[in-house]
Amino acid sequence: MLPARRHPARSVAGPRPAASALLRLGAVLVLAGCGGGGGDGGGLTGGGTPTAVAQLQLAAAPDSLAEQEERQYGVTATAADGRAIATPTLTWSSSDTTILVVTPQGSARGVRPGRATLRVTSGSVSTEASVRVVAAPVADVRIRGADSVVVGTTAPLVAEPTDPTGRPLLGRSVTWAVQDTTIARIGADGVLRGVALGRTNVTATLGTVTGTRAVVVRPSYAASLAFARVPDTLFTSVRDSVRAVFTDSAGRLVADGRPVTYSTDAPTIIEVLPDGRIRPLAPGTATIRAAGDRLIAARQVTVRQAPISQVIVAPDTLTILNGSGSQLYPILLDLGGQRQFRRAVTYQMANTGVATVSATGAVRAVALGTTTVRVTSERGAGTAVVRVIDPPADRFRVELRFVAPAERSLEDVFRNGVAEWERAIMQGGEAVTINFPANACGSGDPARTATVRHLLIYVRLDNIDGRGGVLGSAGPCATRETNGLPVVGQMRFDTNDLRALSNAGTLQAVITHEIGHVLGVSRFTWNSAFRQLAPNVTTAQDPRYIGRRGVLASAGMGFTMPTEGVPIETEGGGGTAGSHWREQVYTIELMTGIMESPVVPGTQLERRPMSLLTIESLGDIGYQVVQSAADVFGRQLETPLTGAALADRLPTILRTTTPAALPHARRLTPTWTVGADGRLRALR
Ligand SMILES: [Zn+2]
Repeated sequence: MLPARRHPARSVAGPRPAASALLRLGAVLVLAGCGGGGGDGGGLTGGGTPTAVAQLQLAAAPDSLAEQEERQYGVTATAADGRAIATPTLTWSSSDTTILVVTPQGSARGVRPGRATLRVTSGSVSTEASVRVVAAPVADVRIRGADSVVVGTTAPLVAEPTDPTGRPLLGRSVTWAVQDTTIARIGADGVLRGVALGRTNVTATLGTVTGTRAVVVRPSYAASLAFARVPDTLFTSVRDSVRAVFTDSAGRLVADGRPVTYSTDAPTIIEVLPDGRIRPLAPGTATIRAAGDRLIAARQVTVRQAPISQVIVAPDTLTILNGSGSQLYPILLDLGGQRQFRRAVTYQMANTGVATVSATGAVRAVALGTTTVRVTSERGAGTAVVRVIDPPADRFRVELRFVAPAERSLEDVFRNGVAEWERAIMQGGEAVTINFPANACGSGDPARTATVRHLLIYVRLDNIDGRGGVLGSAGPCATRETNGLPVVGQMRFDTNDLRALSNAGTLQAVITHEIGHVLGVSRFTWNSAFRQLAPNVTTAQDPRYIGRRGVLASAGMGFTMPTEGVPIETEGGGGTAGSHWREQVYTIELMTGIMESPVVPGTQLERRPMSLLTIESLGDIGYQVVQSAADVFGRQLETPLTGAALADRLPTILRTTTPAALPHARRLTPTWTVGADGRLRALR
């Protein structure tokens, strides 16, 4: 790329062939002979004697040249006597070599646009000229460097702008860009970074000219696959994940998203999904494998049983009568949030002068007072308040009023049923004096005024339609305006059917159950102006009771989680669905909708348990209750509680005894509310 031009002034020392080479050879010889006179700025005359230069003059030449253009400058040297000196000793220089450079022979080249001073010196004489380097037009931008880059690494690219003659234009800044920045990125310095596998174009632009280069982002060669993340300790039911990574031969991470699949050799110990999510299932050891890109990694892991990390005690406030006892139902949750049974639990009563607690959670009252019990299991602990009380002076009593005379033994069944509930309920609302119109509750009574201290139930036992057919009806008749609890109830039963139930051994359970409906175990009482404890009972496929105390009780008994509602019966039609605990879940509990028959002597089926759930639900709707009345009943109770792990045996018992739905009494909803003035006001 040397300039083609020749300069007219040929009286110069320059890189020219043959003749000038000979001249320089001569000069060297002479200078050597005179002991180095070059420093004096001498020259050779025709006779070989050095002559001092008196004047220097740059030959006429354009004062500008283009970038990368090269030009030979000529100079005329004259001695003091006016004679021309043919071969003067010259020194060339540029005031700014970033703009203009010049060789010792006077060949100057433009580097970048700008202005610089070209100076030539011989001895003490010098001359100079200002030279302007003008920008050359850009004809092309070529991009040099790698045409591929390993994903996640970098490679430098260089842009090379050239002028129309093909000469490179130095010192020009280009603008870099990448067409698809999801594949690669490029910095202002031209360093390309591979982002993801693929192909894209890099451009470099200078002015209106753009150069393009296709680049490929390629995977690196993976040398190994190894587990990067395996938790140190795996606990049953605590979900986690593992990850294996590729590294290249230099040990660098290869993170280009190439697929890895995971598996295990022991799926009963640990469940491993192909994407690396794991769920330890049982204590033991297992090998987790990762496979990808024809590489395999394996890691042996040990699964340990997740410790209990949370203990919730049901009930959280245990109220028992002095001289009685009750059962605590601890809810054990492990690190994975799973409910666990059969783990060691310890109980500690703060004040054993008030109550004691056994190793199985049975609490016994010692004296009136309040204390707390602490329940611990592994890493979890919870507490409950324990209150020992005497019954209030005006203890809750149900007044039965038999409208038609009935057999003493049948009436006693009602009295026994009432007594069961009176063991649980301490208070239910203030006394009310009611002005009854005639037949206010379908009882056939004349109009009268009566004071009801707690609850009055009209009972009418007579022949309705003979054996079979209608069993009867039961429900509240009037509720208190103050708290929505019943103040008057009504029950009517066909004596023919009651005798049949008596023969079947289920009469007492049926009547106690029906009194429970009068008291408030029903959709009507759960949802009223006072509370919404079963808001989805008519809308949901899986309706739930959400009263706080009932929910905790059901969880404590092992049927549900503390975070979910109590399942409500969905089957059996309008009289049964919506107003019972779900038979499928709570089986023989007193307030489920199906009566198992016959009872099995010597088992829990001998008696339908009035569970903590039913009693706590009465607490939810406003009764003051004591849990000491609750029958011990639960799904996975330990031996001391029930004599056997009932859950294991229950399905068998039910199969062999053929549970049957007995005719259910029609449930009545209240007709009236009673105000403080004793007036009955009709409900809708
Ligand atoms: Zn019922």
